[in-house]
Amino acid sequence: MAVLQIRQYGDPVLRAKCKRVSRLDRSLRALVDDMIETMHEANGVGLAAPQVGVPVRLFVAEVPADHEDDPFAGQTFVLFNPEIVKVSDEYYPEEGCLSIPGWVANVKRYEHCTIKGRDMTWKEVRIRASGLLAQAFQHETEHLDGVLFVDHVRPEDLRPTKREEQSEEVAVAAS
Ligand code: ZN
Repeated sequence: MAVLQIRQYGDPVLRAKCKRVSRLDRSLRALVDDMIETMHEANGVGLAAPQVGVPVRLFVAEVPADHEDDPFAGQTFVLFNPEIVKVSDEYYPEEGCLSIPGWVANVKRYEHCTIKGRDMTWKEVRIRASGLLAQAFQHETEHLDGVLFVDHVRPEDLRPTKREEQSEEVAVAAS
């Protein structure tokens, strides 16, 4: 397993229309392992294959175990060829992206969604998710069509993350 380099905003692979996966092979299994490790290392809730430079329809997602109100907290999802098949209850949660570090915005999402795709055993699965996991499913599925969260908002709606503000203060204090 290895931590992969996360591609950053401006990298053309983030705008790729990703290819469907027709079968699971050893290199894809290794990619999944590396993507999970990379997501954990970056403290991300999800990571799509194009974010590590591979334009195929695959993402991993995991809501941290301390989100106790989420029945799927701490569970790692791996989905190939994912499709959102049902949504309900529009809302505007705060959102960021590992490929656009330091920035967040409130993005129109659905609080509940049902997603279908294939799992690591190549079984077709349907998952009904809510809250943060549903948001991650929507965000990661969009990555596979080259869509980023910033495409949903105006530039002036983007805000620096608190962590970024703090580190800037530290940098100012240290300089
Ligand atoms: Zn993202």
